[in-house]
Amino acid sequence: MAVHHKRKKKQSVPVVMFGVLALALAALGAAIFLLVRLSRKEPAAVPGTMTPQVAEQTAVSSATEVTATATVFTATADSSTAVSSESTAPGAVSSEALTTASAAASSAAPASAATTAPAGTVTGITLTFYSTVLHVGDKPVMPIVTMSPANASNKQEIWQSSNKAVATVDSLGSITPVAPGECTVTVTSVSNPAVSAEVKVTVKGADTQPQTTEGSTVPAGRSDIQVINGITYVQGVMIANKSYPLPADYNPGLDANALAAFNEMAAAASKEGLKLTICSGFRSYDVQKTLYNNYCNRDGKAAADRFSARPGHSEHQTGLAMDINYAGDSFNNTPEAKWLADNCWKYGFIIRYPEGKESITGYKYESWHVRYLGKDWSKTIYESGLTLEEYFGIDSKYAG
Ligand SMILES: [Zn+2]
Repeated sequence: MAVHHKRKKKQSVPVVMFGVLALALAALGAAIFLLVRLSRKEPAAVPGTMTPQVAEQTAVSSATEVTATATVFTATADSSTAVSSESTAPGAVSSEALTTASAAASSAAPASAATTAPAGTVTGITLTFYSTVLHVGDKPVMPIVTMSPANASNKQEIWQSSNKAVATVDSLGSITPVAPGECTVTVTSVSNPAVSAEVKVTVKGADTQPQTTEGSTVPAGRSDIQVINGITYVQGVMIANKSYPLPADYNPGLDANALAAFNEMAAAASKEGLKLTICSGFRSYDVQKTLYNNYCNRDGKAAADRFSARPGHSEHQTGLAMDINYAGDSFNNTPEAKWLADNCWKYGFIIRYPEGKESITGYKYESWHVRYLGKDWSKTIYESGLTLEEYFGIDSKYAG
């Protein structure tokens, strides 16, 4: 939008006439807008025919229509003449006309919002990001909008895409890629259309190449797998296995929610006369490295890989895994192991490496190793009867 204001070239008669036409059309748009706003303020003729929310939506969509008209006009003026001056720049005219209409409709405000913004008017917009690169097929992204001042009375937003064939944007600012190209998504304040912010959107073709990030290779076409700061998430669930390692410096300690869930679980077990303790919780990359190397020296690498994770691949490094009571086969078949298998899902845990699933999880049966997922996921996984790898359709295999 600011681009229009920067253009300063000599005028010609047709352009001036065009500018006058622009003013007239913008004024017409403003008048429609004003009428809509004024009619909205009147009580509904028939009580109960229109809820406040519906009225609000009507007003917003009307405002959107007016702005859309002005924008289309701006584009036409730009492409047909490519010459305009600061005073007659169509963009400036239309936005001021709208500002005036909006201000007049909402209060007895001065005519020019640019010089004397009424109290409560939005004067600035900031976004959490101003550019984004998306692939066709990606899920929508949405920048978070902050309008200032904080006490502005009307913080409603209008979202527009400069090219809907490239990316669309909905009324909340959710940007969806459509086809390769570039466009600009603009958010404008309803109370002060002179205030706006832009997101440069670059859309690339569908992501069919596997992406490699710090050792994790995301299979092609898996838009539900994200690697953020080297950590892999599937549908938002952090994954650490033989295919998906953690960065060496990921060092979160034992997760507070996981610990609280364990305490709740241990209290429940205690009521049945069973004692649960954490024999190993969080393990750092360096601790795992020492542990794994020791097992390799003792048992050989092939054997060690069946029960001990290579550094970076241990689920204990997530801070979300625990070994209960005793990490060894003598825990199998104890009353505690039985209770854990039957009940841990109720507290947000799953038995991560069940019996008979070594070829899928990459680890032999560990009755003592639980993974915290939160109660929604643990119930889902438990009821599915599947391992995490099966449920999410992912591998657990070392690359080499
Ligand atoms: Zn473990």
